[in-house]
Amino acid sequence: MVKLTEGRGKELFRKYGIPVPNGVTVASAEEAEAVVRSAKVPLPCVVKAQVLVGGRGKGGAVRFASTPEEARAAAAAILGSEFQGEKVREVLLEEKVAIARELYVSFALDRTARLPMLMASAKGGVEIESVDDAQIDRQLIDPFPGLVAYERRRAAKALGLSGPLAADLDRLLAGLYRLFDREDAELVEINPLAVVGEKLLALDAKVSIEDDASFRHPEYATIRDDRTPLEEIAREKEIAFVQLDGNIGVIANGAGLTMATLDVLKEFGGAPGVFLDLGGTDDPKKVSEAFLLMAKAKPRAVFLNIFGGVTKCDTVASGLVAAMGTVPASERFPLVARIRGNNEAEGIAILRAAGITSVPDLRASAQAVVAAAKGTA
Ligand code: ADP
Ligand code: MG
Repeated sequence: MVKLTEGRGKELFRKYGIPVPNGVTVASAEEAEAVVRSAKVPLPCVVKAQVLVGGRGKGGAVRFASTPEEARAAAAAILGSEFQGEKVREVLLEEKVAIARELYVSFALDRTARLPMLMASAKGGVEIESVDDAQIDRQLIDPFPGLVAYERRRAAKALGLSGPLAADLDRLLAGLYRLFDREDAELVEINPLAVVGEKLLALDAKVSIEDDASFRHPEYATIRDDRTPLEEIAREKEIAFVQLDGNIGVIANGAGLTMATLDVLKEFGGAPGVFLDLGGTDDPKKVSEAFLLMAKAKPRAVFLNIFGGVTKCDTVASGLVAAMGTVPASERFPLVARIRGNNEAEGIAILRAAGITSVPDLRASAQAVVAAAKGTA
């Protein structure tokens, strides 16, 4: 799934006629100050971290500035910092508007109904997570006629809008649905949709594009903001590598075994933090590269779970042992291995020579690595 940052989402909004505040995305504090001085963004302004995780408002990643110096300082404070594990590389500077009310609207694909769903709530803003289900109006949209007038009127009612504001919403929802449809989005969300005077303005933008439609959208091919820096390196090296929230590293081969390994770790109370699928590689160098990438993710313990088929056990073992020798002492971690299958005996011998024992039982090996990550082994 391609997730767009707020700045990119707002560019799309403009294209589809959805009103957004004047804003500019920059990558340095100097640029932030210059943009404000040149009046490209009027004061007072808002400085917003361009990350894909939500909750920026509550987490200090949305700041206000009333002078160019303040804009510079706010950008300097946010840029380069980490917000929920995501490094901030850009900030969006935009006009600060006077908000009368904060609303919520979105279109998302409802996978159960297999239809787009329009959600609208008069209680938008940073507390949306705690809004009662009953206070969110939901309508399934038939994609053949598309979003029709009475559906837009019902949304206006749910949002408590009438007169010119209802007319504004009508146009805005038509544009948002067109965007959702034509861009093959999975989700388009405006939270908050602000009432500013007699107008509506989208103050935030969340847009995700459906992966399966990527062939229709070459323009999104280069946008992969949802990858972590390590995932990006892995992609260049063609290593299947995914970072999660936990602290146990998993090296396995094949999607099935990799997923099963994550499940078994969870079952024993472990939290997988990164997993790496060696796939069908039969190149010890590739195994070494993958292992060094794993080390960079700083796992507390690593579980190597290999079923030797095309990927032979001795290939994996020798690649692993070679790489382990190059990891600095400060970055070492306990390793539990379980290698079975093709050339198992040779692989086990290579590991043993390096001081690693292979635990043949899946449950026992998983429990050992969970204990190692908790520091109880
Ligand atoms: P997040 O959803 O990550 O918390 P938002 O973009 O929704 O970030 O911003 C959080 C809050 O900051 C909004 O609910 C709104 O109150 C305020 N805000 C955001 N942009 C502006 C703006 N241009 N002018 C005034 N207030 C803003
Ligand atoms: Mg928001």
